[in-house]
Amino acid sequence: MQDFYCDHAVHVSLQCLVDSTHATGANPLQDPKATIQDIASDKQVFRAHQFLTSCGNTPAVSAHPDVSMIFQSQLLCRHGFRHAFPSRDERELDVAGCIGVRHIHQVRQVHGTRVALAPSAEGTEADAVLGRAGSGRIAVGVRVADCVPVLVGDCDTGDVLAIHAGWRGLVSGIVRAGLEELGSRRVVVAIGPCIGPCCFEVGADVAEKIAQESSAAVVHRKDSGVVTVDLRLAVRTQLEALGVDPSRVDDVDGCTKHQGGLFHSFRRDGIQSGRMLGAIRTNR
Ligand SMILES: [Zn+2]
Repeated sequence: MQDFYCDHAVHVSLQCLVDSTHATGANPLQDPKATIQDIASDKQVFRAHQFLTSCGNTPAVSAHPDVSMIFQSQLLCRHGFRHAFPSRDERELDVAGCIGVRHIHQVRQVHGTRVALAPSAEGTEADAVLGRAGSGRIAVGVRVADCVPVLVGDCDTGDVLAIHAGWRGLVSGIVRAGLEELGSRRVVVAIGPCIGPCCFEVGADVAEKIAQESSAAVVHRKDSGVVTVDLRLAVRTQLEALGVDPSRVDDVDGCTKHQGGLFHSFRRDGIQSGRMLGAIRTNR
């Protein structure tokens, strides 16, 4: 098995378990239940486990209160783009460490369509951050709590783009603006955890605006009259309309609103909600 991250501790940590030198002394061959509990209590091993088993799906496990996790897209990994979609309590410092940088360039997000170039535009108002490869490795990131984090890697240049796509930005054209600034359609894209169609209830006017800028298929009308929208599908629809091959768009699943143990949600927690930092680093 290829080790994508030469500096992470997966081999060492798992070897400790196999050698029964871990705290509980569990023998993984004789007592698998104890071993699973053991793994779940060890943040570093658990993260490594997440990395190795990730296939674009948020696992059906409850987060241990002391464990934060980082979800990843194997598609982006395969193309050499180190990136992270952290769970709710992951520290920014740990996210940066996970992708091998000291700093993640960010902007002041305003639900608009401006794209900022890192590092010069750090902290300015924008909703996408572009990092050009070639002058040292640069990481860019966006903060979300229900909005859609979209991470893009340019397979030709190694450039990266992080997009904050709430419904307003989506309707205004932040996805198009980001890709045009990047200047390529030969990209790989990961759409991260966001509020799902299970929970994103909107008024008919908002649903209509989103449908107009993506597809009628993103809108669901329940028998009760409640209208919900699939923001993830709306982003994917826009990407495909812009010429991105569907096979080069990966979903890292998860609904921020109802998976409260894993994610922050503005809809659920209001102004007290925290944010999660989705980030990606240039690959050369
Ligand atoms: Zn949900």
